[in-house]
Amino acid sequence: MDDTLSKQIRAARPPKPIRQAGQSMGWVREMEPDGQGGLIPARTYFLVGSECRFSCSMCDLWKYTLTQDRTPIGSLASQIADLNRQVDALPPQARPREWLKLYNAANFFDPASVDPGEYPAILKQCEGFERLVVENHASLLSSSKTQQLVRRFRDGFDGELELALGLESIEPNAMRWLNKSMSLDQFQAALEFLRSEQIFVRVFVLLQPMGTPIDESVDWAVASCQAAARWGAQRISLIPTRAGNGFMEDLASRGLWQAPRASQLESALEQLLGHSQGSSIYTADLWDWDSICGICSHCGPSRLERLQRMNNTQRMEASEVKQHCACERVPFH
Ligand code: SF4
Ligand SMILES: [Zn+2]
Repeated sequence: MDDTLSKQIRAARPPKPIRQAGQSMGWVREMEPDGQGGLIPARTYFLVGSECRFSCSMCDLWKYTLTQDRTPIGSLASQIADLNRQVDALPPQARPREWLKLYNAANFFDPASVDPGEYPAILKQCEGFERLVVENHASLLSSSKTQQLVRRFRDGFDGELELALGLESIEPNAMRWLNKSMSLDQFQAALEFLRSEQIFVRVFVLLQPMGTPIDESVDWAVASCQAAARWGAQRISLIPTRAGNGFMEDLASRGLWQAPRASQLESALEQLLGHSQGSSIYTADLWDWDSICGICSHCGPSRLERLQRMNNTQRMEASEVKQHCACERVPFH
């Protein structure tokens, strides 16, 4: 980790919202391609726990964390139980085929974020789901202690485990700016460990992170996604880099970073699906679609629907709107 850069990143943050232990940030449910030509419902629970120990420069997840250094034991299982009650009242045995993502805005296998003593209570709340997805930093997986925790959690779950890891970018300038505290060797070793343990892998890649020239950013995003697939990731999600943590706004005001446009996300997904061998699933992250640059009320909804269909079918689809709407002709500034 670059201490100077970490200090700059943290100093740029606006005040942190106060969060209460035991109170989640809610949930969403969406369909995901299941890798066999079908779709599977996946719900995501946004859990509130202690803050991540890293200081990645694009990250705004610290806004959804507590001020205390350790997540109070019991508070995650109670959030999951509460969300289970909100989403449906079905007992575990009656649940239809469904996946559950537990996103705690930090590293699931960091004992400060998720106390291993809480694993049984968490797993109890996750009974009946076909697959559990949790997030973790790849570099932590090189420690044998963390590997033991991953095995322990997996062995306690009567279903499939998937880990979600941020690769972000393989572009050298972006890697320096991202302050990710991780080498590509560490990332590949993490994927190798997970493969050897029969644990599924999803990888996050950023579109146009700081440091990458704008006219190269689609190519680097595609190359980063394809590298993750070569190294064994089953699913790769491409996320437009966004502002919102103070540091990204600072970079933008100094002309060092610009938010990506919808057309770039479309181009990247088109290239990925156009060259896909079918062994990995590529999706464009659409959670923040309404705030992406380069759309308007005329073209935005149909472009979103097209990307959703491409995500779901994993097939290229011709675009009727892209490049033809007046909003797409607004030049880069
Ligand atoms: S490891 Fe994840 S949660 Fe932690 S700072 Fe980086 S992006 Fe944010
Ligand atoms: Zn438009």
